Amino acid sequence: MGHSIWQSMEQKGYSRRDFLQFSAAAATVAGLGKTGAAQVAKVFDQKEKPAVVWLHFQECTCCSESFIRASHPIVVDALLDVLSLNYSETLMAASGFQAEKCLTDTIEKNKGKYIVLVEGAVPLEADGVYCMIGGKTAESILQTVAKDAAAVVAWGSCASNGCVQAAKPNPTGATPIYKLVDKPVINVPGCPPIADVMMGVVTHLLVLGQIPALDSQGRPKEFYGRRVHDTCYRRPNYDAGLFVESFDDENARKGYCLYKMGCRGPVTQGYSKPETFKYPRGVVLNRDLS
Ligand code: SF4
Ligand code: SF4
Repeated sequence: MGHSIWQSMEQKGYSRRDFLQFSAAAATVAGLGKTGAAQVAKVFDQKEKPAVVWLHFQECTCCSESFIRASHPIVVDALLDVLSLNYSETLMAASGFQAEKCLTDTIEKNKGKYIVLVEGAVPLEADGVYCMIGGKTAESILQTVAKDAAAVVAWGSCASNGCVQAAKPNPTGATPIYKLVDKPVINVPGCPPIADVMMGVVTHLLVLGQIPALDSQGRPKEFYGRRVHDTCYRRPNYDAGLFVESFDDENARKGYCLYKMGCRGPVTQGYSKPETFKYPRGVVLNRDLS
């Protein structure tokens, strides 16, 4: 039997206190509330790291880039400790046949248990020749990998809705993942998405053994149920009628509301961290992220 998540974190130098704080943070992000912290700690104490396959298709790789340079490095450290990233074309050291073997071994040894993160859309035009890896089309790789996965996460707007390459006239036939996979897909749109959402989704999968509740667009309700406008730090200025009138004017320097400049915050459902959200080692993340 392999190491539990706690044992893996301990080997990396995390203290028990760090671990418990991380469990509390993961519970909060996953929408399990304060009482969920003990539940998360119990599961992370016992469960092995889940195997993860991270696929890359039609995309710019900034979803990965933003993830590994997340707003707080502990999210990435901890997540990479919580997950066993068996295959990722961007982050893995292996290449060629060795990399392909990692993929097939992961599928074979973790049937029904591994998580698939897909970054990028899948081109269907011209028999899929616009995106091929190791002689296989993106679509055939996706179908093979998704078939025995415990969960499929469309990571970023390219995978969730096609993003820029699906724009008209969409010459490559770029298609979002949920239209191709014969099981529920957790859409995590954002260009790029927020790393914390991954932590919440993974925690939910591990602790409750099921995918989180999704909205009508396949997004986790916990993260996409609120408008950006409702927690925007410029909101007091909106309420007071203080607006930026032109880019880089005096009002912009004062941090006034951007509504007149075209801000879509009032109609955008997005993730915002709880007021009291804390990451391990006492660092408060809820800072000005503008
Ligand atoms: S969603 Fe945006 S950041 Fe992510 S791969 Fe696509 S274009 Fe890049
Ligand atoms: S309109 Fe935009 S900038 Fe203004 S408060 Fe709402 S989200 Fe913030």
